Amino acid sequence: MKTIVEKIYQGQQKDERDEIIKRAGEIIKNGGLVAFPTETVYGLGADALNEEAAKKIYAAKGRPSDNPLIVHIADMGAIAGITETIPKKAGIVADAFWPGPLTMIFRKNARVPDGTTGGLDTVAVRMPDHAAARELIHAGGGYVAAPSANTSGRPSPTDACHVEADMEGKIDMIIDSGSVDIGVESTILDMTVEPPMILRPGAVTREMLEALIGRVAVDGTLISDTSTEAPKAPGMKYRHYAPKAKLTVVAGEISAVVEEIRRLCRERMKEGRKVGIIATEETVMKYTQGNVKCIGTREDESTIASHLYGILREFDSDEVDCIYSEAFEADGIGSAVMNRLMKAAGQHVIEVK
Ligand code: AMP
Ligand code: MG
Repeated sequence: MKTIVEKIYQGQQKDERDEIIKRAGEIIKNGGLVAFPTETVYGLGADALNEEAAKKIYAAKGRPSDNPLIVHIADMGAIAGITETIPKKAGIVADAFWPGPLTMIFRKNARVPDGTTGGLDTVAVRMPDHAAARELIHAGGGYVAAPSANTSGRPSPTDACHVEADMEGKIDMIIDSGSVDIGVESTILDMTVEPPMILRPGAVTREMLEALIGRVAVDGTLISDTSTEAPKAPGMKYRHYAPKAKLTVVAGEISAVVEEIRRLCRERMKEGRKVGIIATEETVMKYTQGNVKCIGTREDESTIASHLYGILREFDSDEVDCIYSEAFEADGIGSAVMNRLMKAAGQHVIEVK
């Protein structure tokens, strides 16, 4: 299959943009696959109400079929079309955070095929805060199932070039609008339980939700890696976001962390290995050996979120043998960053004093 790549950009002629969206919408309505930008990561879109189309997503990604898809909508009215009842708290949360980086789980109605929800009787729904994404959802019939547009197990794509690397020849079209804004996937909030429960941390934090609707629980498997329970979001059990090299997170007081990473780097280099280091603006000058990448500033952790997956992919192309990363503060969006980083590391962490 030839994959068409079309660019959407600021200042583009309106009729040129509209034509691209219209064509992409037709592909989705005809059961095809279109990768498109959202504010979190690039999504791989198909008609959520067409079982055969949803199945193509699993094939293109190599995704296990028990890992359900998030259905993307473009307006509030669309929720009622695919769910049973909508809890009052969900309305409050939607008013505050949609469009935005938050997914809510509801009881599904019969219109949503099992192929979209991995056989579950619930459905995950999100309204993205990205104009082109919403235009495409409209053009594609209003319900677009879209997981991250990466090969299963690779870091999520935060730029169209990442999508091309993974999906070229496997999907009909890629809409390229450059790098995304947030860089980590949406927060998932299960509204079918009381209190509502966070199944995956993202840019909308527990504190932000609790300020609105009172107590919000967090899936225990996100907090403790020693838990023997299965995570409540089926996808969270898979080793996601993995770079090819072995990644180790080093946590503790920052100057001790830098010393330990320098020491580990020296040791590995003596063994003849290629070492990658994930540093921050605050520490990057202190590393004098290894392939050092600055991920962002500790002053603003959203910069770290937006560069994480891109850096993991760069280390794949640089073919390093091992990667050492500093740990980051786990508050605000930092909780999403540390969740993804620890998963990429297979929970491998060294604590220093
Ligand atoms: P991705 O689309 O790759 O960002 O992954 C979607 C995530 O949402 C996966 O971890 C899924 O397991 C989770 N998810 C989707 N639908 C549901 C659902 N009905 N119940 C619980 N988790 C869900
Ligand atoms: Mg994904």
